[in-house]
Amino acid sequence: MGEKVDNVVDHPAMRPHINAAAVTYRLGTEEEYQDLGSAVSHLTGKKINRWTHIPQNQEDLVKKAMMLRVAGQITGTCFQRCVGMDGLITLYSTTWEMDQDLGTNYHQRFKEFLIETQNNDYMTDGAMTDPKGDRSKRPSEQHDPDLYVRVVEERPDGIVVRGAKMHQTGAINSHQILVMPGMGMSPADEDYAISFAVPADEKGIIYVFGRQVNDSRKWEGSIDQGNAKYGVVGGEALIIFEDVFVPWDRVFMYKETKYTGRLVDRFASYHRQNYGACKAGNLDVLIGATATLAGMQGTAKASHVKDKLSEMAHLVETMYSGALACSFNCSQNGCGTAFVDPVIANSSKLNTARYYPEVTRLAQDIAGGFVATIPSEQEFDNPRVAPYMHKYFSTGENVDAIERIKMARLVENMTGSTPIIECMHGAGSPQAQKVVLQRSIKWQDKMKFAAEIVKEQEPSQTK
Ligand code: SF4
Repeated sequence: MGEKVDNVVDHPAMRPHINAAAVTYRLGTEEEYQDLGSAVSHLTGKKINRWTHIPQNQEDLVKKAMMLRVAGQITGTCFQRCVGMDGLITLYSTTWEMDQDLGTNYHQRFKEFLIETQNNDYMTDGAMTDPKGDRSKRPSEQHDPDLYVRVVEERPDGIVVRGAKMHQTGAINSHQILVMPGMGMSPADEDYAISFAVPADEKGIIYVFGRQVNDSRKWEGSIDQGNAKYGVVGGEALIIFEDVFVPWDRVFMYKETKYTGRLVDRFASYHRQNYGACKAGNLDVLIGATATLAGMQGTAKASHVKDKLSEMAHLVETMYSGALACSFNCSQNGCGTAFVDPVIANSSKLNTARYYPEVTRLAQDIAGGFVATIPSEQEFDNPRVAPYMHKYFSTGENVDAIERIKMARLVENMTGSTPIIECMHGAGSPQAQKVVLQRSIKWQDKMKFAAEIVKEQEPSQTK
């Protein structure tokens, strides 16, 4: 809000997102979550956090989805660390393929970076989305050449990069930034076809923190925030690279336009796998809040409320089914990394973008209109009106007004505009998933199935 932030950790705008990211460390280290939150590195044989692991088989992909649902249930929001995880997974196989084809040494460099990340349990911000300027133009055709991250100088010891990445989830509380191209590039865009990693506090990087609906409530108290501990969405930031130096050992793709489309598509499938899982976990919290409110308000036994709660659960399980199905139907690429089924992963993300708002609509329907008109939590400190707040917001002898309002604020904040927009466009907007489906679905096979069925059928000979 126009200020330079010196203490990111304790700033009220940022602290909840840091708490949410901390849950990824909890799952990675606490005994209770070990089966999901930790893995064995295929490179070092050491026990590592699954958020730094490269999936080797179907089980790894399934556990990734299961882990995200659990983390979503604990936080009720975005825990931010999966973009970096999917960046690591994608670059591992893409650098291997480039080296096979081109004789480069990107993969060796990347492996060293990955081992350091795993050994130190670093949180990585996966930075993909450029500002993009005019969407009808390629990176090299923009009126301002910095609208996509690009190399501006090549030195014997490394490169200098300039540009920006937008919507960077968890960037301000990451250890390192892993930059990837955000779209398939043509040869004219070679200065933009780069991937590299830098420490998050590298000289020349500026973070501009994003706003969310109701975020000023973070300065006012806790109840009205709804989810004061973990916040709403992922604490996104604009990252500006003001001529940042990157040594060669942290450059994982350099002017390789041919491999950019493959990298982006692969990353997108891994990240779209996630959405059916983390959002299912978040919506488990919302279903719980809605059912609790219904219980407090005496509507839990109404048949239409029971029906709507079942509908919410049905939509959530449908989302999660896609995350699991694309994991079960995986394939193995040349370097041994397990890859989700891209058609199912993209379909799952489409379902999530469609069903998430529907689940929030049903939650608002059941919770009731009072969610939108509750006075400020400060009224409970106002001696003139506090007794009336308790009196009129209680719905029964055993229902405490403050407890009811806390649940209502949780519903309000989880169904407000920011998380819904995030769910729509995070991991790519719905049209991006449809483009993948249009490209990947075997339309000819489907037509053949139909042709086979009608093959033997002839016009009737009878008059
Ligand atoms: Fe992870 Fe979900 Fe947040 Fe993406 S939206 S970073 S998958 S929690």
